[in-house]
Amino acid sequence: MNTPHSGYTMRCIMCGQQNDERETSTYCTNCGGVLTIDYHQTAKHIQYPLEEVRPDPLKNNPSSLKRLNRLSERYDADLYAKLEFEHPTGCFKDRGSYIEVQKALELGADAICLASTGNMAASVAAYACYFKIPCFVFVPEKTPEVKLAQATIYDATIIKIKGDFMVCEKLCREFAKSGNYYLAGDYVFRQEGQKSFSYELYEQGDTNFDYIFVPIGAGTNFAAILKGYQEMKAAGLIDKIPKFVAVQPEQSSPVVEGIFKKDKIVKEQVNTMADAVAVGDPLDFYKVLRGIEETDGMAFTATENELLESMKEMTVEEGYFTEPACAIPLATFKNNLETFKGKKCLFVLTGTGLKSSHIVAKYSLSSPVLPPKLERIQQYIESGFVEMQKSSWGQSRNTGFENISMDEGHAKLYDEYVNSINKKGKTLKEEEIKVLRSLVYNEDADLEYPVEVVDYKLTMRKHGLVSAAVKLKIQGNEEEVISLDQGVGPLDAVLTAIKAETDAFLPLEVINHEVEILSPDTDSLVIVTLTLEKEGHKFTSKGASPDTLEATIQAFVKGLAVANKALSV
Ligand SMILES: *Cc1c(COP(=O)(O)O)cnc(C)c1O
Ligand SMILES: [Zn+2]
Repeated sequence: MNTPHSGYTMRCIMCGQQNDERETSTYCTNCGGVLTIDYHQTAKHIQYPLEEVRPDPLKNNPSSLKRLNRLSERYDADLYAKLEFEHPTGCFKDRGSYIEVQKALELGADAICLASTGNMAASVAAYACYFKIPCFVFVPEKTPEVKLAQATIYDATIIKIKGDFMVCEKLCREFAKSGNYYLAGDYVFRQEGQKSFSYELYEQGDTNFDYIFVPIGAGTNFAAILKGYQEMKAAGLIDKIPKFVAVQPEQSSPVVEGIFKKDKIVKEQVNTMADAVAVGDPLDFYKVLRGIEETDGMAFTATENELLESMKEMTVEEGYFTEPACAIPLATFKNNLETFKGKKCLFVLTGTGLKSSHIVAKYSLSSPVLPPKLERIQQYIESGFVEMQKSSWGQSRNTGFENISMDEGHAKLYDEYVNSINKKGKTLKEEEIKVLRSLVYNEDADLEYPVEVVDYKLTMRKHGLVSAAVKLKIQGNEEEVISLDQGVGPLDAVLTAIKAETDAFLPLEVINHEVEILSPDTDSLVIVTLTLEKEGHKFTSKGASPDTLEATIQAFVKGLAVANKALSV
């Protein structure tokens, strides 16, 4: 495919100055404004600002345009979705990366660099990898490994920086200037790639929507889709441009707030589960603002709970599991049903839910592990837990857990936990009750404990050493024993002292130790998970207490019981 263009210039949308792409492809050299490409003539086909356009090596089909039949009926409107998550890296950004990487090659860059924490990095890395140009991705130190997996497998060089995203972005910009490097990101050539969205709609035979809902981060995609429409209208391909609806999470909505103020807002910290749109400094804000004004559009936000609800609804009713960002169109549509009644609306479903599995895990109750006994499975299905699990999704999840029926053994176990927690002067919060109930469901209620920890005492020594005296009752022995030992820190000291006695009959190594603190409160419930090993057999066990040491002791003693049972069968 070679799509010729009619010649173009690069213009600053703020001051109008023409910029030279060999000098900048990011900001105007005169005023720092954002740039746009003007073609010298209109065309009946898409124009890209490239001398030669290579066929897209990764993408084979236009993303699907689907009517949302069930939701249309439910809400009395004519609803459609464009499934942008069908792109090769699971996100629409591939449209832009495809063009940006070719521009980097055309300009003779030695490498591409960008600052990103997610979808952008994956997408640019994929195309850079195929076109065999090195790619440097700058990320904040705290970026989770899963997010970097795609960029890593596509051979990008990951540069982890001490600091937050702003620090990375600034450094990446300096890095770009320090050599012959192309700075990729939400800039003018990306917009040219992403406008193919609208040309695809034209080829799919349907551009005639009343409203298009676009989830907004930097605003580049919104601007790109609108530019595609404007170019097609200028070329006489279509005669109507839909009203554009800019949508954001309420927790991170500088663009929507800015639209009402008619001025750009920059937020320091943004915090939403829709991390793909958590952009504090929306680069293309003025393009979005003008787009809203020119199309007589609208701007809305939705709460985190509304996102969860709509994300689930889209998955259950229409079958599309997306990122939380893609739930904002449906959520804001539902908040304004009167406005959209009977209207033909298009939702842009920007990215796949598979990258957000951690969100699903976080907002749903996990299923307990059951013993392989048919009657226990029946009991579980009838316990009310399953209904609770389903209905608790996306709501405040603060009620109802007391209604789950537990069998006698688990009810007793649960009461023991609650009693010992109450003894520490703590009352459980609803969220903690939920976690504790879930934990208890996961436990074997018929365990026999080979050891009981009756009491313990700690003494601090020099050089961080701690002495522990632990009073133990060992099964089969009448008398309690006191075990004394030392360790680095209280946890180590107590475990060492316990093990000094228990290793004699059941030696267990602690090979992993995780501590989860449920809330920022000082008396938060702490969940400790231990992984224990004996001769290649691994066991996990948990403890729950407001006191980390207590939770660890519980977990270890429980681990002894679990291992003892498993090994004696
Ligand atoms: C990047 C991204 C957006 C936001 O696009 P902008 O061009 O930054 O406005 C929305 N959804 C997903 C899944 C994204 O990756
Ligand atoms: Zn300018």
